[in-house]
Amino acid sequence: MASVKELAEKHNVVPGRAQAVIEDLGIEVDNGQFEADADELELIEASLAEQSGSTAAVLQPNPTIRDVAQALGLQDKEVHKTLVTKLKKMVTLTTSLDQETTEKLVETLGYEVEWASAEPKPKAKKKDAKPATSEVIRPPVVTILGHVDHGKTSLLDYIRKAKVAEGEHGGITQHIGAYQVQLKDGTISFLDTPGHAAFTQMRARGAQVTDIAVLVVAADDGIMPQTIEAISHAKSAEVPIVVAVNKIDKPDANPDKVLQQLTQHELVPESYGGDVITQNVSAITGEGVDDLLDQINVLAEVLELKADPKAQPEAVVVEAKLERGRGPVATVLVEDGTLKIGDILVIGEAWGKVKAMTDYKGDRLQEAGPSTPVEILGLSEVPSAGDRVEIVKNEREARNIVDDRVSRRRNTNLTEPNRKVTLRGIRELYGEADSDQALSLIIKADVHGSVEAVRGLLNELDIEGIDVKILHAGVGAITESDILLAGASDGIVVGFNVKPEGNAKSEATRQKVEIRTYNIIYELIEDIEAAVKGRLEPKYEEEYHGTVEVRVVFKLSRQGKVAGSHVTDGKILRNDSVRVKRGEELVFEGKLASLRNVKEDVREINAGQDCGIKFEGWEDFAEGDVVEAFELVQVNA
Ligand code: GDP
Repeated sequence: MASVKELAEKHNVVPGRAQAVIEDLGIEVDNGQFEADADELELIEASLAEQSGSTAAVLQPNPTIRDVAQALGLQDKEVHKTLVTKLKKMVTLTTSLDQETTEKLVETLGYEVEWASAEPKPKAKKKDAKPATSEVIRPPVVTILGHVDHGKTSLLDYIRKAKVAEGEHGGITQHIGAYQVQLKDGTISFLDTPGHAAFTQMRARGAQVTDIAVLVVAADDGIMPQTIEAISHAKSAEVPIVVAVNKIDKPDANPDKVLQQLTQHELVPESYGGDVITQNVSAITGEGVDDLLDQINVLAEVLELKADPKAQPEAVVVEAKLERGRGPVATVLVEDGTLKIGDILVIGEAWGKVKAMTDYKGDRLQEAGPSTPVEILGLSEVPSAGDRVEIVKNEREARNIVDDRVSRRRNTNLTEPNRKVTLRGIRELYGEADSDQALSLIIKADVHGSVEAVRGLLNELDIEGIDVKILHAGVGAITESDILLAGASDGIVVGFNVKPEGNAKSEATRQKVEIRTYNIIYELIEDIEAAVKGRLEPKYEEEYHGTVEVRVVFKLSRQGKVAGSHVTDGKILRNDSVRVKRGEELVFEGKLASLRNVKEDVREINAGQDCGIKFEGWEDFAEGDVVEAFELVQVNA
């Protein structure tokens, strides 16, 4: 037996090329191994020696990710990740790829494609090699997203009642913010906090725990604004989506219409030739729910989710609260390693020793492995959802870390995110030459037509160096959820004929997310184009301060002329800009050169007071001139 990989390495070609040469001789390759006699081997070696250094991978038409991975000698996971993250394609390991996608994918990985003749050769049987580490398959973590009233809560409730509570617990489950479902093909962990705000809030805090998003769409209602929002949130988090078409028990349910609508949002269902898994369900009768769970498991298998129970534990807070008699209670989801009773934890500014650990059934646990949600007791404070859990050696270390964090926050207001992507700073931020950057935008507009117009014009922008990426586009006011999405993805929120809602504004201030609103579509497009080209001019607006009347003109020998004036309204500031009018006529526009009260230089003079003022480069003022003082405030900083 000889190894294809070793042979490929010896001749400096990709394994797929070596395999093609071997198979061309009619020799079967099984699991990367083949058998050849001395003559055959000589032929193979000679052929490979000729092709040494070639970066071309031989592929059959319509390969799967596995085929590509094998041809290049890479791991399936690596190739899948490139396809999902770089080429933005949601496909499974077994989907056939078209020519264009394959070529782009292989190129992105640093190779080129050489298409084998269309006639298929006997395919080698393949079986994945075992991973070398102690990694094991872990259950997928699933979040349910969708429009309000489409049945997210009902679906979670149905699954919990039907799948979790059967058996000895007689229907009683704890609400701990997450639970697990045991099926014959594997376990699934559900985060019981439906809604994209929760999903993105966690992501904004750096915690991406969801592996698969289930998008619930009511078959009697179809795709609605929050459905679109959920799609955008899942896509920008690069989480694969399974669509549950719900309420199919209703007489007016039209699941086909939902499938068709999905195609308009770049989610092409399998029945339409795409790769998005969809499943008709009823959260009330339970129809299709088992199939949905099966589909989730199939997708999880493709994603090859792994973790190492022996690794240093990593976990994240899903939910936390203060409970009477129990103190701070936190539900954490273990991502890697195994959390144990007695572990000493630091979570944000909380610390503690795990005193007790219970699962969603209320059963006490001694330890919890990857993808297990558990409720823990023993913390000093209530942490926040999305906070990371760190395991430390001893209590002293825990206290030190927390003390340090508290004092640093007090000194520097550390809780504020330091991100600040602004339209004006975008070019600087991404640099002139970097061609791999995107300006991420969330577009909100008053009507569907405007959304499409803005999207269309932005897509037409052709700017070297920076891609304009639309994370989400929708109708309606700018909401808190838009801000969260922008915050989690370093994006900017652009409103056309709409304004931010009250709590969106405060969230934007907190998250330091820029909101820009426009009423003229071309101004919006021009601003964005100018920003990405690095030529956005600062835009100023006048902020009125006050009015001053010139009462007497003094001529001082050394200092020239001074306007002895009286503030009749508001105030005037030393650094103000001014406009001077004589009757209707504008006689001067510029800056103040000095502002004095008697002989003192001052910063500000208020209404009712006298002052002496001078103007920058202008002395032709006269008694009776009216001075309007204002400040130019940059509005697009
Ligand atoms: P959520 O806002 O997405 O969590 O939606 P809910 O789960 O609260 O469901 C909204 C309403 O739709 C409730 O009155 C549910 O009883 C109803 N509902 C949810 N799923 C189904 C279903 O499959 N069939 C029918 N007939 N009603 C459903």
